[in-house]
Amino acid sequence: MNGNVILISGGLDSALLAYDVITKSKKEKNILLKLETEPHTIQMEAELIATVNIFFALKSYYPKKDIRLFLTKIPMFSQNSKLFQNGKPYKDNVPYEVPYRNLIYIAYACQIANAMHCNNVYIAIHKNDELQHYSDANYGFYRDMVKVLSHYNDVQLKAPYAKITKAELIKHALSINKQQVQEIINMSVSCYEPKLEKGVIMPCGVCPSCVNRKKALQEVGLC
Ligand SMILES: [Zn+2]
Repeated sequence: MNGNVILISGGLDSALLAYDVITKSKKEKNILLKLETEPHTIQMEAELIATVNIFFALKSYYPKKDIRLFLTKIPMFSQNSKLFQNGKPYKDNVPYEVPYRNLIYIAYACQIANAMHCNNVYIAIHKNDELQHYSDANYGFYRDMVKVLSHYNDVQLKAPYAKITKAELIKHALSINKQQVQEIINMSVSCYEPKLEKGVIMPCGVCPSCVNRKKALQEVGLC
């Protein structure tokens, strides 16, 4: 058992987590696990493009390291989330949260880790997620998942950013290699309602995810 499964969405946080983990890794395998949800919305398409770009960037930074990308489709049936109401008028009280997503993602990632003989599963939960009151993206949820997974005594769940903010995690990544991290950040997409114009991702600039990304980047002097 020697390897890392890193849950990656194509967003800034998980992209920097992947960069961080792979930079520190030595001879173990690193599997970027992108769980694509159904129905496939424009946001999913944008995140998929970002993930593939980030994967190839990581391969170019670390050509001798074992880095793999797994893409798997999972139907989510989450019509209670704005993220699956693409093109439909949104109701004000519908949240962006996809109910049970991290619970499903973590369980799935652990199963992949077991099958691929990896001992670690990484997820990019951070403190700002907690402030947005996501049910399954906060330190308490992470701590309890670790307890649940201890019944299997197999895979370790790691959320190294659970107690720090988005700006702090960006600052941490920048301390590794500023140029590469800026490139990774530029490839990532953190928008709930992006547009795609000839394959180019255009963030909306006004959704909560765009606002939080801009705020964090401003805090570290990157925008
Ligand atoms: Zn946006």
